[in-house]
Amino acid sequence: MNNDFMNNDLIPFRKLIEKKGYKFTIQKEIILRTILDNKPHINAKEIFKKIKRKHIGIATIYRSLKVFNELGIVKEINISRINYYEMKIFSGNPLHIHFNCYRSNNIVDIDSQNLNFDYLKLNKKIETKNNLKIYDSNITFIGLCSKCREELKCQDQ
Ligand SMILES: [Zn+2]
Ligand SMILES: [Zn+2]
Repeated sequence: MNNDFMNNDLIPFRKLIEKKGYKFTIQKEIILRTILDNKPHINAKEIFKKIKRKHIGIATIYRSLKVFNELGIVKEINISRINYYEMKIFSGNPLHIHFNCYRSNNIVDIDSQNLNFDYLKLNKKIETKNNLKIYDSNITFIGLCSKCREELKCQDQ
């Protein structure tokens, strides 16, 4: 793989992947590009559909996602027994809470600066109180998104 072909924004990922002893294959590049370019949370099957014409098998996608997750490049969020992925490293927003709508399955990033600060404080508190070290967390609130709330309101009338 040569740098002329690759977009500059992927170079830090390539460096990290190679540093950890993995090959930065064209498949990994395409999969990473797909996660970067699409909605914040995407699952393996959605990636598969989007890059169908590139002839990358679903097993390759699962394998690459596993490596990305291991290296902290992506964050894995399990919602209704499906793993969704979003960029984690270099994302500027590695730590945030999720909201999942049980009606539309909409996944929302809760990422206000204030809340993130509270969230960090909560992590610190848990660490101190329990003598733990927290590296990551998966918090998903479940309920009805604003769109569904509106739709249900309309149905009621
Ligand atoms: Zn909804
Ligand atoms: Zn998110």
